Amino acid sequence: MKTHARVVVIGGGVVGASVLYHLTKAGWRDVVLIERSELTSGSTWHAAGGMHTVNGDPNVAKLQAYTINLYKEIEAISGQSCGIHITAGLMLACTPERHDFLKMMVSRAKYLGLDMEMVSVEEAARLFPLMDKRHFVGALYNTLEGHVDPSGVTHAYAKAARIQGAEVYRHTRVVETKPRPDGSWDVVTDKGTIVAEHIVNAGGLWAREVGRMAGLELPVLAMEHQYLITEDVPEVAASEKEMLHIIDFDGEIYMRQEGRGGMLIGTYERAGVPWSERQTPWEFGHELLENDLERIAPSLEVGFEHFPALGRAGIRRVVNGPFTFTPDGNPLVGPVRGLKNYWVACGVMAGLSQGGGVGLSLSNWMIEGDPGADIWGMDIARYGDWTTMAYTNAKVRENYSRRFRVRFPGEELPAGRPLRTTPLYETLGREGALFGAAYGLEYPLWYAADGEERGEHWSFRRNNAFAAVAPECRAVREGVGLMEISAYAKYDVTGPKAEEFLDRILANRLPKEGRITLSPMLGENGRLLGDFTVARLSDGRFFVIGSGIAEAYHMRWFERFLPEGAAIRAYGTDLVGLSIAGPRAREVLAEVVHEDVSHAAFPLLAIRRMEVGLVPALVGRISFTGDLGYEIWVKPEHQRALYRTLVDAGAAFGLKHFGSRALHSLRLAKGYGTWAREYRPIYTATEAGLDRFVALNKGAFVGSEAALRERESGGTYRLVSFEVDAADADASGDEPILHQGKTVGWVTSGGYAHTHGVSLAMGYVRNEVAPALDGFSIEIMGEGRRARRLEEPVFDPDGMRMRS
Ligand SMILES: Cc1cc2nc3c(=O)[nH]c(=O)nc-3n(C[C@H](O)[C@H](O)[C@H](O)COP(=O)(O)OP(=O)(O)OC[C@H]3O[C@@H](n4cnc5c(N)ncnc54)[C@H](O)[C@@H]3O)c2cc1C
Repeated sequence: MKTHARVVVIGGGVVGASVLYHLTKAGWRDVVLIERSELTSGSTWHAAGGMHTVNGDPNVAKLQAYTINLYKEIEAISGQSCGIHITAGLMLACTPERHDFLKMMVSRAKYLGLDMEMVSVEEAARLFPLMDKRHFVGALYNTLEGHVDPSGVTHAYAKAARIQGAEVYRHTRVVETKPRPDGSWDVVTDKGTIVAEHIVNAGGLWAREVGRMAGLELPVLAMEHQYLITEDVPEVAASEKEMLHIIDFDGEIYMRQEGRGGMLIGTYERAGVPWSERQTPWEFGHELLENDLERIAPSLEVGFEHFPALGRAGIRRVVNGPFTFTPDGNPLVGPVRGLKNYWVACGVMAGLSQGGGVGLSLSNWMIEGDPGADIWGMDIARYGDWTTMAYTNAKVRENYSRRFRVRFPGEELPAGRPLRTTPLYETLGREGALFGAAYGLEYPLWYAADGEERGEHWSFRRNNAFAAVAPECRAVREGVGLMEISAYAKYDVTGPKAEEFLDRILANRLPKEGRITLSPMLGENGRLLGDFTVARLSDGRFFVIGSGIAEAYHMRWFERFLPEGAAIRAYGTDLVGLSIAGPRAREVLAEVVHEDVSHAAFPLLAIRRMEVGLVPALVGRISFTGDLGYEIWVKPEHQRALYRTLVDAGAAFGLKHFGSRALHSLRLAKGYGTWAREYRPIYTATEAGLDRFVALNKGAFVGSEAALRERESGGTYRLVSFEVDAADADASGDEPILHQGKTVGWVTSGGYAHTHGVSLAMGYVRNEVAPALDGFSIEIMGEGRRARRLEEPVFDPDGMRMRS
């Protein structure tokens, strides 16, 4: 065994083998994979091998397509068969909601370059004669679906990697991982120690235990999963063509042909059962779990009704095996904050659809410093230290049970909540707030009026929240609204080198004392890593505000550049806030402070410490509503007093609570982009229209060279806004944008501007068509809707409302 390696990958399942292969493909040869038993000895060996390209996150869908198309390549290099069966597939819908969902997937496929189409029930039955047409309303046909041999795939990755220089040590268990002072790692195994520059935790079923060796508690949990293989079905055996890969959402089952005449049927039952909730036993080997057909009987009953021939066939074999999930069902990929050169590639619940994409992104990230694709949805940084084992358990069960259920745009799921709350949680609840959770923290979405139902009827179309949000928007535009803003991420940056540090990582010039500025943060490749408001509170102290869901993501980046002499702290809920916004906001503030808050004395983008009522606060004149507004930050113990003060003073001005749905409508009307929608690590500042906040003449900063090149070349896409001829559904994100019938981009956000009576959308289109005003359409729920590009925001294009 080697004693030194550039990378040690821990785990020889399909994911670890893919990481190893991709590292060698990119030219890193001194790489090693360590496997405690035989390759595939975790979840991989008993996987059903099914693969498809449908995913709620379009970026993950793209990587799934990459994975499926990769198998031929690794077969060719390794000479090892992957058992590839690209049969094409059908996703079947029994309900109008599911039909709508499939139509959305087909629309999305247009800009992702995937080959999908909606087909009638008749056509579906022609393609898959086992189905009983009476139960279905429509289907999605996808050419890139099928199944592979999981063991063949894993060995093909490993062999190809070996041919390209990697080494694989089987029957070797990693028992300890110890950081060394220079950032490398001692990987201690039962056969000796390897010093590795980087380690990758691809421990699959044991990812938690491997993580614990480095002091990590990863949010992953294994669930039991069962599938069965039928005896030969005469209709299948008689068919000349292999059966299609099938997903029957309402039966909650998937299936494919197995052998000459059998069918493999798997299900994600509602009452899923976790396996080894706290600790995966090391002695668990190439084993299966005890079957429990009772548990999956309800799904099978529906399945046999939908596909009667299967009900007549006997059962040849049942497989029950464990595999891991994360709270949202997407993988955990990337560098771990605070652990130098420690990478994860685990929590992959669809290794045969996703393993290639995970390996590619992680190897890019390790070698190039950037994953090379938008993998925000898989980044480990979407979780923080708030994800307890109990939270993961609740969310994973929820996720497993909902695997084949429709998730509506904006739908909030209840398990594992409330976990993080601010002191106002109950108070706002009494006011009628319905809550969402961001980074585990509860925040108001919208407020139900007195006597109105406290629940949202989730739908792809406008629902009961629509009517409730309208008066919230009006209150902000006509009077004054109050919103809880604690869910933003807030950072305290201090020290003699604080200015130098921020100046290096942020693209804009830093503000003067008492002033706020807006600044993007760029990666070395010039792409957007964040958008912040930055305030200089005093010499050597800055207050930075960004997106709450990106707190760990940003801290990981900040810490990479933090010099001696500067410190950064994420406040989390140690600092909480309320915002008041609207034309009467100043009058409310003036009632409760002793300061002069007139426009002249406290202009736009000013920030100052003030006493607000009884409470010491930091008050900034800024609002994401695009209106006159203030953000007021206080310690949690003062939040209730601040709230009372504002609500009492606001009563005379008609102050009304508003939530994030109203904010979404208001910011769309103003054309403001937001993190994770308009601003993501695949867009540049030029493309996002943020060049005015990128001070190329201030001197070098991270990403400045790339930003200059991008400004000169103009980038590929442009962020633009549209007014849309919508019917009863607004765009919600990820719809294709067409120009003269050709797909030219995609929607990032959409919604209804209540105070203007128009449906709006923002999105990226190719540069060539960006100047056009007409000829656009946006495909909403499978229907092309005429869209007109807006030359200016529908609300206050001159910005006079916030400036005066
Ligand atoms: C019944 C069933 C059906 C499935 N069907 C499908 C399907 O149709 N399509 C699909 O895409 N996915 C399917 N899956 C999921 C699929 O199996 C997983 O996504 C995939 O196997 C995950 O691979 P992995 O490499 O992350 O983990 P694993 O396969 O668990 O691999 C981890 C490896 O790490 C090794 N290891 C762990 N700790 C150490 C250590 N300390 N030292 C050395 N080695 C270590 C283990 O021995 C193991 O071999 C199914 C799963 C089950 C259970």
